[in-house]
Amino acid sequence: MEPSGVNNLYRNNGAIPIGVIGVGHLGTIHARLLKSTVGADLRGIYDSDRDRAEALASELDIRCYNDIDELLSDCEVVTVVTPTSTHEEVARRALEAGVHTFIEKPITATYAEAEGLLALADERGLLVQVGHIERFNPVFAALGDVVLAPMFIEAHRLAQFRPRATDVAVVLDLMIHDIDLVLTLVDSSPTEIRSSGVSVVSDAVDIANARLEFANGCVANLTASRISQRPMRKMRIFQPDAYISIDFAAPSAEVFRIGEGEESGTILLGEIERGTQPKKIFYNKPTIPESNALATELQAFIDAVRDGTTPKVTGHSAAEALRIAETIVNQIERR
Ligand code: NAD
Repeated sequence: MEPSGVNNLYRNNGAIPIGVIGVGHLGTIHARLLKSTVGADLRGIYDSDRDRAEALASELDIRCYNDIDELLSDCEVVTVVTPTSTHEEVARRALEAGVHTFIEKPITATYAEAEGLLALADERGLLVQVGHIERFNPVFAALGDVVLAPMFIEAHRLAQFRPRATDVAVVLDLMIHDIDLVLTLVDSSPTEIRSSGVSVVSDAVDIANARLEFANGCVANLTASRISQRPMRKMRIFQPDAYISIDFAAPSAEVFRIGEGEESGTILLGEIERGTQPKKIFYNKPTIPESNALATELQAFIDAVRDGTTPKVTGHSAAEALRIAETIVNQIERR
């Protein structure tokens, strides 16, 4: 792909020049991984906390930019890893500079901000991918040929309290991962949402539960907390022929499936009478391939920019997840 309006960008064997904006907890990991991402040429980093950026730049032997516009003019791609409340402002600046933009989740603090950004990206023909990292969790690769057709989903995403990311409600920080997943897994649209939650330690909602009902009858019951004693990222999926239990953190998955005949690679747990014919219950625990979801996610964006293809997690799908998240927060705050 040719650079858009920026000369002499490709100095490193055609690798795509990339920069990271915001190198706190997660941005530091972005920068470390981008050093070894195939087809990426990490040009440098920018952070409003100059000391932090300088320390990382020296560790990685890359340039520390003091001016965000200078970094933008040297890059074709950036990742925006600043606090959520700043995503709109920072990503807009990148898009206005003609740079393809990876934005950490949630895409922005409000749906209206996301709509504005995406209109700009579409108008300029720029790609936006959003950091809904669970889509790249290796459990999905391990589930392979298991067709997911959920009718009931139960998700728990619990974290211990940390002051980071309390600029937004837990719904936008943690539950948004599960909202994005259920919107991807359920082949239907939500028709009804009922939520409740409370603020305990921050000024925003810290614990939330939402029940999403879809037009096809599927129900998703999502719980998120950032004041839990024990961390947990689990999802259970129930469908007519199977029950699938996923632990995103382990990561691991277990599949209980109803079938007939033989199923290779599974354990036969027993037989049940269902309808006119006896059915068998098969169990398997697929082997999860070794993989770093963040590295896969960043590689996917570089590949999409290089090939001019649609990213796996588009800005528009992230905006839809945010629209649902915003509805949930509004319902809780109106109580
Ligand atoms: P952090 O507070 O550790 O780091 C944010 C960094 O951004 C800081 O170094 C800060 O100085 C810098 N910064 C603030 N405003 C800036 C600006 N206008 N320009 C440049 N730099 C600026 O936060 P974090 O935990 O790394 O989170 C950053 C983002 O990543 C958040 O949006 C968060 O939701 C997201 N995140 C996603 C996941 C995931 O699972 N995908 C996990 C953690 C964080």
